[in-house]
Amino acid sequence: MEIAPNIHRIPCIFGGNRVVFVHLLIGTEASMLVDTACAQNPQQEILPYMQQIGFDPADLTYILISHSDMDHQGGNQPMKEIAPQAKMLCHKLDRPWIESTDALINGRYKQFDEPHGFVTPDEAVASIQADTLSTPIDLTLEGGEEFRLSADWYVEAVHTPGHTWGHLAVYDPASKTMVGGEAALWNAILDVDWNPALAPTYCYVDTYLATLDRLMTMDIQIYSGAHWELRKGSDIGDFFRESRNFCLLVERKLLELAQTHGTFTMKDALEHVGTQVATWDASMNETLNFPFNGNLQRLVQRGQLVEGRNNDNIITWSLPA
Ligand SMILES: [Zn+2]
Repeated sequence: MEIAPNIHRIPCIFGGNRVVFVHLLIGTEASMLVDTACAQNPQQEILPYMQQIGFDPADLTYILISHSDMDHQGGNQPMKEIAPQAKMLCHKLDRPWIESTDALINGRYKQFDEPHGFVTPDEAVASIQADTLSTPIDLTLEGGEEFRLSADWYVEAVHTPGHTWGHLAVYDPASKTMVGGEAALWNAILDVDWNPALAPTYCYVDTYLATLDRLMTMDIQIYSGAHWELRKGSDIGDFFRESRNFCLLVERKLLELAQTHGTFTMKDALEHVGTQVATWDASMNETLNFPFNGNLQRLVQRGQLVEGRNNDNIITWSLPA
């Protein structure tokens, strides 16, 4: 659907009941696709959408990847095959994981295995590999770059870190539309029926909260996130505030856990705090590893918790002595 003049929001289905919205911005001088979803989505939804609105993929100028994650970069190689002339762009900080599926798997999805005693099953790794077909990036960005899409139409890449270091959103000052990706993650990531699917996977809390503050000061009238309903007007500020509140609630609950439970591991945190904050199916509670890890690192940095290792060499947290 066209959410603002020449800005199209395209739903892409993956993983059964999950949805990610990619965006197509079409000017008279240049055009931009924001994200490619998973490996099957360029052929399944993106190309059919382009054909339906009469857009020739041979006219696509840029493919901008908002951040390193399978459901945003997974279709890069097939999309580049459809539009070989398009330049692949992403933030400099997310380039290593966007160019290499193995680096993404080891750095992002398996990061909790060794230090916290989790096991990422081989089938899960194989499924991520099949969904994520990477390709080289042509040009990296740092945020603030403006793209001239028509004679009088410029859109801007906005550095919005928190979910990843190099997350980018795209802002159109003409319609005051923000293509937000996962800059703000609300209190859950939603499925295609708008039911909670998994935890809001912010990772770096200080930068995430700074991003939310920045978004709250911007003049945004239409906000299109990657996994949420389209938000307009005053609902947008609520979305950012509710994102912030969830993050601060988790942090408070983790500190309370140290006070009531004593020394705890990530698995303890999932068991005790996970059940208090989760609105999604319990089978997805391990996705709380990302936000919990972010909040726990921040509590350690501030000296409110101390990190250690138990006899099994698993990371633990406790109140300072
Ligand atoms: Zn996503």
